[in-house]
Amino acid sequence: MTHPRVNAKKCRDCSVCMAFCPEAAIVQAEGHVVIEPAKCIGCGECLVVCKYGAVKMKWDEDSLRIQEKLAEYAFRVFAHFKGKAGFVSFLVKITKDCDCMAKDQKRIVDDIGILASLDPVAVDQATADLIVERGGGKDPLRAGYDLDWSAQLAHGEKIGLGSTDYELVELS
Ligand code: SF4
Ligand code: SF4
Repeated sequence: MTHPRVNAKKCRDCSVCMAFCPEAAIVQAEGHVVIEPAKCIGCGECLVVCKYGAVKMKWDEDSLRIQEKLAEYAFRVFAHFKGKAGFVSFLVKITKDCDCMAKDQKRIVDDIGILASLDPVAVDQATADLIVERGGGKDPLRAGYDLDWSAQLAHGEKIGLGSTDYELVELS
């Protein structure tokens, strides 16, 4: 289970995270708090409520399980909207981190275009393939985080979310 860590140097010992933790997994230490891994369910609530930036998630730990869960949650939602959902991938302003970061980030590849599909796995596979293709022999998707992104797509295909097989039809 992936769970956050508390940076003791940044923690102000305000106890806010303790009040929000649904599992009572945060305990007082000397002048700061610590997370008990055995109790933590990895919900991230403490990370969100800490205004001192003392709680951080180690995204590169146990990443495979997170990727699988993302596909599984998507599967449940997709099952609910089957036949009514379409997927669009905007391959523009492609950066290492997501666009929720409040800064203009360096592009990892030039703009490519817009993809659309009724298959969520196919559209993501095509997205990844096009970005890698433009990486000049390197995988730009691994430039910042050395994670196997294909594991998420493979799991999505395995559970029936979609197919990694696709055909690109270019519209001019
Ligand atoms: S909310 Fe942040 S600063 Fe306050 S106790 Fe929790 S980790 Fe420490
Ligand atoms: S991730 Fe959730 S369960 Fe774990 S310590 Fe933070 S608030 Fe508690």
